[in-house]
Amino acid sequence: MYRYRLSDAAEIDSADRSLCELAVELASIILGIGKPIVRFIAACDDGFIKMKLPINAYSPSNGKEFFVRSGLTPGELVTAAIHETRHVWQWRNRAWASRPMAVVERDAELFSHEVWGNHARNGDHAALTRTLGLIHIEWVKAAVSARRVDLSSAWTKPGRNNFGPRRIEFTS
Ligand SMILES: [Zn+2]
Repeated sequence: MYRYRLSDAAEIDSADRSLCELAVELASIILGIGKPIVRFIAACDDGFIKMKLPINAYSPSNGKEFFVRSGLTPGELVTAAIHETRHVWQWRNRAWASRPMAVVERDAELFSHEVWGNHARNGDHAALTRTLGLIHIEWVKAAVSARRVDLSSAWTKPGRNNFGPRRIEFTS
């Protein structure tokens, strides 16, 4: 049995926190959902999260949050954030809740690959922050050309997300 507890604020690297939040924000925009809460965790003998195998991250069925282990590399952290945000999306979409584990895992993996595209995953925090920015720009361009978003609102600040665009109905 592997057990984890919540990390103390002082244990969470601020660069990790910022990068993770950015990845969650981007994945949430792409999925058209409100951002889930990110909770950093650490291995601990009497932690309340109990797993049969060691984990990098985990999304409980409440669809509100996910847990991610402190100490991942920046690339692992971004991958975990994108993957887990997809799990949150699954939990919020009833049709997914009853699907077999292998199916939901494969779906989350595919989503992560789709978001990363051909971008390198092995940079430092600064490099991956730039990469997330590039992925965001690519997504906006694709969404605009597919008429899924209105460019006039694509870069404004939409509510819970700190950077746009919000997925909206195209009206003209
Ligand atoms: Zn998963």
